[in-house]
Amino acid sequence: MGFTHETLPQRVRFAAGEADAAVREEVELLGARRAMVIASPRGTEVARAVTAGIEVAVLHDGVREHVPLEIAEAARAVAAEHDVDVVVSVGGGSATGLGKAVALTTGLPLVAVPTTYAGSEATDVWGLTTDGTKTTGTDRRVLPRSVVYDAALTRDLPAGLTTTSGLNALAHAVDALWAPRADPINAALAGEGVRALAVALPAVLDAPHDLTARERVLYGTYLASAAFASSGSGLHHKICHVLGGRFDLPHAATHAIVLPHVLALNAPHAPAADRRLAEAFGSTSAVLGLADLYDRLDAPRSLAELGLRDDQVAEAAAAILPSVPPSNPAPVDLGVLEVLLRSALHG
Ligand code: NAD
Repeated sequence: MGFTHETLPQRVRFAAGEADAAVREEVELLGARRAMVIASPRGTEVARAVTAGIEVAVLHDGVREHVPLEIAEAARAVAAEHDVDVVVSVGGGSATGLGKAVALTTGLPLVAVPTTYAGSEATDVWGLTTDGTKTTGTDRRVLPRSVVYDAALTRDLPAGLTTTSGLNALAHAVDALWAPRADPINAALAGEGVRALAVALPAVLDAPHDLTARERVLYGTYLASAAFASSGSGLHHKICHVLGGRFDLPHAATHAIVLPHVLALNAPHAPAADRRLAEAFGSTSAVLGLADLYDRLDAPRSLAELGLRDDQVAEAAAAILPSVPPSNPAPVDLGVLEVLLRSALHG
């Protein structure tokens, strides 16, 4: 074996029903005293409860998906105005993303309390949107110093969002297997992430308040995202990045719909990934295992239902092509991308 693997330095806590105590301890460990809490407007009540044990200098609810630059700058100004020494984000990937935007320019430590399965908390990837174009980058300053997973905060995540967000998590693991820095360590994380998600997501849909199953989804989410953070973006993420940024498609649902098509393209060219995924799904092949999971979850299938039009496929394919990773196992050209997008368009 010849490879170099980098593990990101981060504390990860699983604390079902105890996020408030865990957040207090994590903030204390950082030696911080004045927190800026970031949450979406509908998440402020939960954020208040989760941060009840720390001194909150300001609760900022200016969260918007894909972090428009002006939203990031407003949040940075609030951080400066209140002289805070730690940022605590409570919410989905959009709240984490705004926390990262503040950490990026201020260097403030970030504690992330995720309430969806987006997985941003385990990566050092930031994203900002300017004039409809989303730019992403990696920077160690945006990696949350601590992540607090409290399954109780995800108990009321609606079924549709549980499915799409959970499949967004799964996509991190699957794409990690052929991403540019794929290696045996992130493949092991990815395989265990898929195994956990494949069992726990249907269990959560059957019993949405089952905290053990909800916690298992968070465990799979973390592993998948840690694998993705280490391996980098594969073809799947390159496709979804263009679809989300250029055509304003919703993040989690887009990932959920595109994933089977990327897997169908790559699996025949990636026998080791195919075997690992098949085993994780408990199936004879990766494609069949994923198809079975999609049936059980009644997952969304059509990009057209999200608003993508047939006449936008060629533009999307042309925008994706320059970013296709050379590591992708299946050969990819414009024609391949158009066929893939058309099948995802119609489901
Ligand atoms: P989101 O944070 O926008 O949340 C989706 C919706 O769910 C929102 O309306 C939110 O208020 C609601 N919500 C959140 N938690 C809830 C709960 N527990 N119960 C009920 N409703 C709840 O969406 P997301 O899918 O979590 O995250 C998407 C964003 O994260 C995108 O901008 C994406 O680019 C980013 N992201 C970044 C990375 C990274 O590594 N940087 C990784 C994944 C996602």
